[in-house]
Amino acid sequence: MREASESLGRGELAIRLPVDAHDELAALARVLNSMAENLQQKLTELQAERDLSQAVIGNLSEGVALLGSDLTIRHANDRFWALVGADRPSGAMIPRLASARQPHLEEIVRQAVRQGLALRREAALYVDERREYEITVLPIRESPEAGDWLLTIRDLKPERTMANLRREFVANVSHELKTPLTSIRGYAETLLQGGLEDEGNRSRFVETIHAQAVRLEALVEDLLELADLERPDAALEIKDWNFAEIAREMASAFEEVAERRGLELQLDAPRDLHARVDRNRIEVAMRNLLDNAIKYTDAGSVKVTVRAEDGDVRVSITDTGRGISPEHLPRVFERFYRVDLGRSRAFGGTGLGLSIVKHAIELHGGRVGVVSTPGAGTTFWFEVPANSPKADAGPRNGLS
Ligand code: ADP
Repeated sequence: MREASESLGRGELAIRLPVDAHDELAALARVLNSMAENLQQKLTELQAERDLSQAVIGNLSEGVALLGSDLTIRHANDRFWALVGADRPSGAMIPRLASARQPHLEEIVRQAVRQGLALRREAALYVDERREYEITVLPIRESPEAGDWLLTIRDLKPERTMANLRREFVANVSHELKTPLTSIRGYAETLLQGGLEDEGNRSRFVETIHAQAVRLEALVEDLLELADLERPDAALEIKDWNFAEIAREMASAFEEVAERRGLELQLDAPRDLHARVDRNRIEVAMRNLLDNAIKYTDAGSVKVTVRAEDGDVRVSITDTGRGISPEHLPRVFERFYRVDLGRSRAFGGTGLGLSIVKHAIELHGGRVGVVSTPGAGTTFWFEVPANSPKADAGPRNGLS
């Protein structure tokens, strides 16, 4: 019993005493055994809790370090070491904040410790390049060793990029709205200042006002569509559809326009190809791609191909149009990006069509792409999973 107690004292909690009697010593042995068992269970629970906390801290996008007031690093996650651009010191020695080699950061912590107050600062750290961070230093009152500090480093780049994109978007929208509005106002004023009596021109003025109002309407419709697709809670109405049928109906809806432009519209789709998709969103994507293919093709054909491929449905829309030169290709899915502004305007384009396509497809957990040979033609394609689409997958890159 003494040996067993000594082992327990050394932390060997797996030890158990054999109990084969009913006297007082055996009762004591039973107490020791149950104590060892309880301790072992508590220890396992504590270890699990510690692992969980470490997993949470380890996976934070912020760099986090627990510091003593003497600026020793008692604990830091991997992200902290990555952000300061230093290796986590190995060995038993407790590292100091100085080993992160970021004097600016050290100064901020020193200031907080000196004042005994929480501190938040925006500061640049240099690793490979200069980058802006939000640095927070908080005293931890609950800490058993009074005087511990929590240092958090948050990368400001994603937030700044989003803010810039938003600003750019608002500027673009305002510009796009302003052009037709200026034109409408100009022609309306001309009409008011005597233009109504100008029999030769007045109907032309009214036609221009009408055309510009139609353009405004298209722009507002596309903006609403985009806003709807970008809502964080944008829901998909997923149902089982014969995808080939959707493609057939979309193609036939465009037959007349294609014919008017002297283009041949072809469809190559299996009879029956079922997929679980949001029909409205798929139609929006196909409508925009077909509309573009016809708009940007002067002669030849537009072909819609639908195929089942490794659990995906793949749709390609190939035209024999002017094509898109390689430098523009990576950007055509961006909002308001136009290769040929004049032509886009002439056909009532808003510059938003392809970004609507991209969002509608990505909401399905799918992908979009384009290949083009200038002067020969372009193929825009998209793929969506035929089954169990990720209805909850938001747009992957919210502001493109
Ligand atoms: P838009 O309303 O201007 O058509 P989109 O977002 O639909 O806007 O397309 C962006 C730009 O990509 C267009 O302005 C056009 O220059 C180019 N583009 C799109 N589809 C085609 C195509 N099939 N062939 C050639 N250029 C195209």
